[in-house]
Amino acid sequence: MNPAISREEVEKIVRKVVLERLGPSVKAPAVPLAVHASARHMHLCKADLEKLFGPGHELTVDRPLYQPGNYAAKEMVTLVGPRSRLISNLRVLGPLRDRSQIELAFTDIISLGIENVPVRLSGDIDGTPGCLVMGPKGVVELKEGVIRAAIHVHMSPADAEFYGVKHKDLMKLRVGGAAGITFDRVHVRVDPTVLLNVHMDTDEANACGLHLAKEFELTK
Ligand SMILES: [Zn+2]
Repeated sequence: MNPAISREEVEKIVRKVVLERLGPSVKAPAVPLAVHASARHMHLCKADLEKLFGPGHELTVDRPLYQPGNYAAKEMVTLVGPRSRLISNLRVLGPLRDRSQIELAFTDIISLGIENVPVRLSGDIDGTPGCLVMGPKGVVELKEGVIRAAIHVHMSPADAEFYGVKHKDLMKLRVGGAAGITFDRVHVRVDPTVLLNVHMDTDEANACGLHLAKEFELTK
């Protein structure tokens, strides 16, 4: 005897039919989901670049990053914490920004000794702590700009449509493996020029064993 078709099966069929009807507007992401760790780094504005590296200095590309147009520069700076603790060889990322910004993992913040560093999205630095920055040609006393970067996913408008999310929504990222973790507050950043890509800091990457992880699931 034929058992009645289950509710799940019906939903599966309906979903398949709907997806076929909607056609190319709900196509799968153009590139597979890439999950990367961002090591501590700094973004510079033009004025601070010139103070640290000399008038007229321009950033030199060391290597391009995954996201088109972004690169690790050859330039590096030293951070000086409140009790003269240092982080040296902090990589500068290009291109230049309107405001300077330092992105550190929690471990970096503890070792540098800066208090009250918030978790923020890149660019959202009002009211954050500052830091003394040393370059080969000068020093900049940043009044604000030190953050722990919030874990986020870059996606195109088509990817956002695929996942059914919009700019600034929160998603979940499940990372499988021996130390499997689900990140509950992955911020969605929609931009037509980006590749589908999660950015987490090095503490988050170490916690989930990112370098060994093969299984990632991004959900609403
Ligand atoms: Zn990012």
